Amino acid sequence: MSTAFYSHPECRLHDMGAGHPECPQRLDAIADHLRATGLDIALDFRDPPLATEEQIERAHATGYVLEILDQMRRVRDLGEHHAIDPDTTLAGGTLQAALRSAGAAVAATDDVLAGRATNAFCAVRPPGHHATRDQAMGFCFFNNVAIAARHALDVHGLQRVAIIDFDVHHGNGTEDIVAGDERVLMCSFFQDQLYPFSGGVPKGTNMLNLPIPAYTRGGAIRELIEMMWMPRLEEFRPQMLFVSAGFDAHREDDLGQLGLVEADYEWITQRLKALADRHAQGRIVSCLEGGYNLSALARSVAAHLRVLADM
Ligand SMILES: [Zn+2]
Repeated sequence: MSTAFYSHPECRLHDMGAGHPECPQRLDAIADHLRATGLDIALDFRDPPLATEEQIERAHATGYVLEILDQMRRVRDLGEHHAIDPDTTLAGGTLQAALRSAGAAVAATDDVLAGRATNAFCAVRPPGHHATRDQAMGFCFFNNVAIAARHALDVHGLQRVAIIDFDVHHGNGTEDIVAGDERVLMCSFFQDQLYPFSGGVPKGTNMLNLPIPAYTRGGAIRELIEMMWMPRLEEFRPQMLFVSAGFDAHREDDLGQLGLVEADYEWITQRLKALADRHAQGRIVSCLEGGYNLSALARSVAAHLRVLADM
């Protein structure tokens, strides 16, 4: 059995302009580092299909999906940019990239549930965890992880899935979509008082939100995970784990002020993998979210993948 690695050249085509931190070079940095370290040999590279509207609508309102797809097609055909908010812009390649990203998460879910892979990582962009049921924001258009989780529940008939979000920013979009859906337990930590300035008051009893003060280092965050996440997860006994894998809580990342290093991502992944082995036949689908210091991002993804792939 193997670790599937989903990525696609079209995920590079979404370009929000010079100097934007959520840039195509993020995927290059990851791919280069995997090759340089030889980790690529341990991975099973797969091409994601395009997500369908039906798949996307499991997490998003139909009206929103139709409108954003229409805007994406218009921008593609006119070759223009269209700003949704100051951080989030539709560009010529956004349609293809966004559909590949969501398609990767869905295909990875199918593969893992069919036993074609033990677990999977989707090195895709745009990311997804800020996209709410009916609003694109914070670099995100479609909520890849929420779409994949709903696919596992609604199409494959799973009864309990966990979503783990360790991005430095609160996954407000995922919370908006899954809060109150008792088939899902969402565990996250994020930097307090940072974009999108939410999460302090959870929106449902199935949300375990840990706001963390700026400048907290990995050791303290590990203790919180051990104390707060793990007992809830053990009790919940998820049949599959979905990970919003943002690496912007890294000490070297300027978009946040938390102090994680590669060893912390390795530790978190080990804890999640052990949990998945106990309750979920090892089934994990992890999707890239943030991570903007290219070197720290590549090293952290490698640390995450080394654990997933038993390297
Ligand atoms: Zn982030």
